[in-house]
Amino acid sequence: MNTLTHQQDQVLRIIGLIGGMSWESSAAYYKLINQEVRKRLGPLRSARVLMHSMDFGPVQQAQQDGRWDDAAAALEDAARSLHRGGADCIVLCTNTMHKVADRIAAAVPIPFLHIADPVGEAARQSNASVLGLLGTRYTMEQAFLRERLERQYGVKVLVPDETERAEVHQIIYEELCAGVIRDSSRKTCQSIIHSLARRGADAVILGCTEITLLIGQDDSQLPLLDTTALHARAAVNFALGEF
Ligand code: GLU
Repeated sequence: MNTLTHQQDQVLRIIGLIGGMSWESSAAYYKLINQEVRKRLGPLRSARVLMHSMDFGPVQQAQQDGRWDDAAAALEDAARSLHRGGADCIVLCTNTMHKVADRIAAAVPIPFLHIADPVGEAARQSNASVLGLLGTRYTMEQAFLRERLERQYGVKVLVPDETERAEVHQIIYEELCAGVIRDSSRKTCQSIIHSLARRGADAVILGCTEITLLIGQDDSQLPLLDTTALHARAAVNFALGEF
């Protein structure tokens, strides 16, 4: 055992982050996780974290080509390397790649903290039952995130219409993942949130880990369920032995 741990009243479990998709949001996870540990344990406490940061270019190309098996294999390797390095859990810092969550979870004998679970729990706590979903086309149009929320948490998920989905997808890949923040894109997202509200949504999932870099609660007429913040907090709960 590490001698440092003898001086601490609580030994934190090691959080294994699979990041880099994009690194803009991984940096946010790292900061949020450490801020939460500081808030809960004291000013000089910080998280024990290992990060395997992917090169997003080839991952994004595999997504675009529909080569999800190739992307899954790379993420399985990342999870195994985190496990070998001593991680106690795996946190995949992207909604989209949760499409292959089952494969990553099966690659290692440590818990995989699925991004949908803290979102479903937050929806339950706030009594939100109809949730708008903003994310990449893959996340909005495929079932992997939506179905877990609907099946396990009994919520209904609404996605934006075709034109709006194309706009959000483009904002994510051409701007947010490239470190570009535009007021005009914030306005676009606000108007999409407005149409989701008109269709009956009572909260909106920021279902892409970079959208939080563009929109905060003050920009939204509906309550936001921010996957980055909720997932980061779930990681800290795990690190503190709460589940
Ligand atoms: N980070 C984003 C997400 O949460 C999009 C980038 C990716 O395709 O992984 O879905």
